[in-house]
Amino acid sequence: MPSLIGCHALVFTGEFDARSIETSVQRAHQAGFDLIEFPLMEPATFDSATARRVVEGEGLHATSSLGLPLDADISSDDPSIVSAGRQLLDIALDKTAEMGGLHLCGVLYGSMRKHMAPASASGRANSVAAIQRLADRASSLGIPLSLEIVNRYESNVINTGRQALEFLKEVDREGVSVHLDTYHMNIEESDLFQPILDAGDRLGYVHIGESHRGYLGTGSVDFGSAFRALDRINYAGPIVFESFSSAV
Ligand code: MN
Repeated sequence: MPSLIGCHALVFTGEFDARSIETSVQRAHQAGFDLIEFPLMEPATFDSATARRVVEGEGLHATSSLGLPLDADISSDDPSIVSAGRQLLDIALDKTAEMGGLHLCGVLYGSMRKHMAPASASGRANSVAAIQRLADRASSLGIPLSLEIVNRYESNVINTGRQALEFLKEVDREGVSVHLDTYHMNIEESDLFQPILDAGDRLGYVHIGESHRGYLGTGSVDFGSAFRALDRINYAGPIVFESFSSAV
């Protein structure tokens, strides 16, 4: 089965009221995409019923993504912050299920922001334990999870594909895979070919983004190598274009 080709909803809108959900889904469909990815910026208030109705109406597929905030960082050493993160991930997973989403991805393992120090060993263990628990819930709902690898200015837990594979080994759950993004790879990896081969069948989700998040082909990302590697591993998961509307 060929990859579903998707588009990040932030390409179209920065707001997620019912009308913006509807417009972004329609525009993704009109542009020829198979799938739309919704960023769950505030999971508790995400209108999953509208998303489901509109996505089904347009005959599209949907996925959702999330980057944890600092006060819900499961890689923290503070048990109350870890607990808030677990709750937020549960809500995000439930919203994904309610929407009929195919996948939950993003920076699920820690807070997405600039940190001045690496995560501690105990913080990392908190993250592994929380992802294991989330993976077990997700697997009962039939929703795969993918952990998005982002650059050093956006996570202090994992920044490269190789680190992600080590983390996945610790998590040790079938339903959890690596999510690579060419924008972040372009900052952290030596090239855009080998990390994809190394991930192999553990690669479950891909974001396509230019070095400046703008029009594809106008930046410095080596898409040729990335796509040759995806072809080499017979990658069949979603491939989602991520950029941000000038309105965002
Ligand atoms: Mn991304």
